[in-house]
Amino acid sequence: MDGRIFLQALRQITEAVTGELDIKKAMDILVHKIRLTTETDCCSIYLLDSFRKRYRLMATDGLSQSAVGKATLHFDEGLVGVVGTTGEVLNLANAPSHPNFKYLPDVGEDEYQSFLGVPILDQGSTIGVLIIQSKSRQQFGEQEESFLVTLAAQMGSIISRSREEHSLEDDELKRIKGISSTGEIAIAKALVWQPDTSLDDVKIQKTEDSTLQVDLFTQVLFQMQIEMDKATLKMQEGEKSNAAFGYMASYGKLLDDSTFSDEVISCIEQGHYLATSAVKFVIERRLKDALIQGQDDKVIDIKDFGQVLVSRLVHACNREFDIDEQVVLVMENMPAAMVADLPKDKIVGFVATSQVSSAHASILARDFGIPSVLGVKVNINDLDGHTVIVDGRNCEVILDPPESVIGEFKQLVSQSKEQQDLFSREATEPANTLDGQHVTVSLNAGLNQNGSEALQAGDNIGLYRTEIAFMMCDTFPGEQQQYEWYSRILEQSAPKPVCMRTLDIGSDKGLPYLQSKEPNPALGWRGVRVTVDMPNILHTQLRAMLLAHQKYGNLELMIPMVSCMEEVHFVKSAIIEVANELRQKTGKEVTLPPFGVMIEVPSTTYLMDELSQEVDFFSIGSNDLIQYLLAVDRANPNVARFYDCFHPAVVRCLKGLVDKAKEHNKPITVCGESAGDPLSALLLLSLGYTSLSMNNSFIARIKYIMRRVSCEDLQKLAAEALKLTDGKSIRALYDAYAANQGLGKIMSSYQQEIKAIIESGEKTDNH
Ligand code: PEP
Ligand code: MG
Repeated sequence: MDGRIFLQALRQITEAVTGELDIKKAMDILVHKIRLTTETDCCSIYLLDSFRKRYRLMATDGLSQSAVGKATLHFDEGLVGVVGTTGEVLNLANAPSHPNFKYLPDVGEDEYQSFLGVPILDQGSTIGVLIIQSKSRQQFGEQEESFLVTLAAQMGSIISRSREEHSLEDDELKRIKGISSTGEIAIAKALVWQPDTSLDDVKIQKTEDSTLQVDLFTQVLFQMQIEMDKATLKMQEGEKSNAAFGYMASYGKLLDDSTFSDEVISCIEQGHYLATSAVKFVIERRLKDALIQGQDDKVIDIKDFGQVLVSRLVHACNREFDIDEQVVLVMENMPAAMVADLPKDKIVGFVATSQVSSAHASILARDFGIPSVLGVKVNINDLDGHTVIVDGRNCEVILDPPESVIGEFKQLVSQSKEQQDLFSREATEPANTLDGQHVTVSLNAGLNQNGSEALQAGDNIGLYRTEIAFMMCDTFPGEQQQYEWYSRILEQSAPKPVCMRTLDIGSDKGLPYLQSKEPNPALGWRGVRVTVDMPNILHTQLRAMLLAHQKYGNLELMIPMVSCMEEVHFVKSAIIEVANELRQKTGKEVTLPPFGVMIEVPSTTYLMDELSQEVDFFSIGSNDLIQYLLAVDRANPNVARFYDCFHPAVVRCLKGLVDKAKEHNKPITVCGESAGDPLSALLLLSLGYTSLSMNNSFIARIKYIMRRVSCEDLQKLAAEALKLTDGKSIRALYDAYAANQGLGKIMSSYQQEIKAIIESGEKTDNH
């Protein structure tokens, strides 16, 4: 067959499939077109159902249609299983004579002789098998092979993305994957919360319940009418300056205009649109008319009116936070400021649907210890009022689970609570290992209100992220404001030290008032680079910190994202400059706090000797260090599987750093997420780290673990780990040790249990 025809067909098929939103239809198109192009008798797609460990026939042109969705093969059965397990192309002229050939009744493949199967791959894993078959005994050619291989490569990511968005089989649990997650499990009704929606942002959406939407619209209109009447009365009584009512008058005429409400209602009823969408349509139509007629003054009134109506409609739907029962809060985004203000006793879980939920949003959620799944691809309105399970451990949301599944998850929640109680009972005991090594377990803080309560368990504050408070402001906070923040946290913690980091913004931590668009922000203007470029911002922060330190004396100061010595010299000079100014201004001696740098850019791992001459301590930002060392974006789910604290390069790098710090007699702490992860914490201890700083919700668990392991044993393990060359084997060493110490269950994080519940929750298979 002509190569050009294949190329053309390839393009056409890919376009047709990518343009089809319904994945089942897309697969039907695919098999049909492939069969025609390759001039064979049959083309089929089998997809792997990983929970049941079976391949299921999902689409076919040539086999019996009644077998679609029903015929399955165990993952290592039949020729499909050979392709799936080897991940190789299988090209056979006489398929039935192959020892692995398996005859499936009712599928209708009796007459086919030759077989060409290729794996459908997504991110390195086989997710299905694409097959062509013919009645004659013939070996398929190289062109057919490369045609199928190329198509299968493109299909992998399309199918996998679509699988995440929609459940492929109706009888499966509705499980929706997120991008990142925190915490354990929450089960409750979902409450959708949307901040004031702008008219421009209203998405056009349809509804099946037009009556409800008409009722909603008329209720809101009626309510506004009453408010309007009251406003008019007040104005007649002379309260003309009352701004709260003032805006009502300008669109009073629109409220009285019955053609407006008629138009909206008919748009809802006939077009089956949501009330907000219908309002948007009608308002846009009116705006157009007003512009054509040159009535510019009317345009603003119409727009305002539409905006108020939309806001009212959205809030009428969402009932704000006047809730009696506990809920899972569903939002598009999870802004830091908003999370800080939430009624925590009512919110048992978070779901955010925005795909750009940042790594730092996760850190905030973790700080609160509330299970969350972020970046869930779902229409926000599909969740409102539905029961959901937020599974922070598996990074997924289960929508409308059956009672049996809810019951089993509830059991897990209570088991996990029992575990937490176990950890909490010892939370204030020191973390001394079985052989007497003390491990300092500190708190990562940033939201002021966490300070005092959390410190009861942590030894001190090992990382105070100052940028979180900056993120909640509308402009750069002034010196007095910052002085109050820092004083509060130093006072609450005194005499225990608080390690404050200067502003660390950039990449996924943006300030609303300092936007910088960069093509590659993780490698861009971030951390200390920003403050070096804005010395006024740095000086203000340093002044506020030093002033607070003069009063409480427990500050430690460190700088983030250092990549060269010049940055260290620059900040040290700035500290001296600010201290001199203060000395002159107050006439009093100024005490300087201990000064440290974060080791999170690989270049600094080669500068430990020089840095040791300049600093009092080191703190390892393992989140960024691993990201840069392995070239894996810490917030990108597509490469999450490459992000590994047990990677031999990471292990050896961490070993080198702790040895250098010891050689120079400088304290060294790890304050990235790996410090709070049970297995990584064992790795760190084995390498010689005895100071770990983590989020509040991990402190008690890590202390519990530390008290049940031996430093000497772990050091022996590290000696072995440093010789290994792959992350899997290194991890296995620590896993085995933890199991041996009776800590297996704590490490496993209920993954196996959750898998089993889900398996039994989905309908049992016929095959
Ligand atoms: C880190 O990089 O490990 C760290 C603690 O800093 P952040 O997560 O705020 O970048
Ligand atoms: Mg960092």
